[in-house]
Amino acid sequence: MVDIAERCGYVALVGRPNVGKSTLLNHLLRQKLAITSRKPQTTRHLLLGVDTDGAHQAIYVDTPGIHDQTDRQINRYMVRAATSVLQDVDVIVMVVDRDVWTEGDEVVLAHVRKARAARFAVINKIDLIRNKNRLLPVIERLQKVGCFDQVIPVSALRDQGLDALRAEVAAALPEHPHMFPADQLTDQPERFLVAEIIREKLMRRYGDEIPHRTAVVIEGYQEGERVTDIAADIYVERPGQKRIIIGKGGEKLREVGRDARQDIEKLLDRKVMLRLWVKVKPGWTNDQAQLRRMGFD
Ligand code: GDP
Ligand code: MG
Repeated sequence: MVDIAERCGYVALVGRPNVGKSTLLNHLLRQKLAITSRKPQTTRHLLLGVDTDGAHQAIYVDTPGIHDQTDRQINRYMVRAATSVLQDVDVIVMVVDRDVWTEGDEVVLAHVRKARAARFAVINKIDLIRNKNRLLPVIERLQKVGCFDQVIPVSALRDQGLDALRAEVAAALPEHPHMFPADQLTDQPERFLVAEIIREKLMRRYGDEIPHRTAVVIEGYQEGERVTDIAADIYVERPGQKRIIIGKGGEKLREVGRDARQDIEKLLDRKVMLRLWVKVKPGWTNDQAQLRRMGFD
């Protein structure tokens, strides 16, 4: 018998909002864990996704986008969560969107430069580049930055380049016993993932203003013999937002509930009864005590 030493480490997925970090996590794990949307700041908390493959265990950390808007407590919380993790991981994957390099990427890069982990740059969304020759200058520019050990083009959405990324990550993991059982996928309890699915449907169904002022709190969670009965409160800041979310005759909220229930049933692999309430809590996104009660700490 050959004794192969176990390798295990933390791998942070960082980048400015909307470059595809959460999509990348889901596709690396071949399972939907993190919620995604076209809107920035969809991801609010650190989320672990564990990928165990033989002797290798990569513990990916999906992070909220790093940006410099610090006007509200909730934004400060999210940026702190994303930047503090850089000091504690073994590998940093900085995700960028094709050749779109912005001030936002500079802000992220400044944090990445200061870290001491192995560092990869991942060029995401290459499915949107028709002429692949246009990739070369992007790769070269990222190599010239000087702090990246590897530059890897991928399409998270279309599963392109992910095996190459997995292999590079595996090679960079330190020798260390595994920290999670091989069949464990995340550190978060099911009810957290359930709340996130509901929030995803809210992010996707409404205009720009509503989603950022919305939080979902699971109030009831009962696993019956055949059905899991879930009750969730949706918090908004103003009565007007409540009216928009509920819609005429409750139509909009029913659609959110139906979409969410379908995803939750897939996640839990059983029948679900989902009941949603909308509650108004003025100023919760800027209220530290309230944020702590909602799980931001
Ligand atoms: P995050 O804010 O960095 O976590 O970004 P998300 O994972 O939420 O993705 C933001 C948007 O980009 C979503 O609409 C995704 O569907 C889209 N997206 C992510 N990866 C890809 C990709 O490889 N190709 C394309 N075409 N779209 C992508
Ligand atoms: Mg995200």
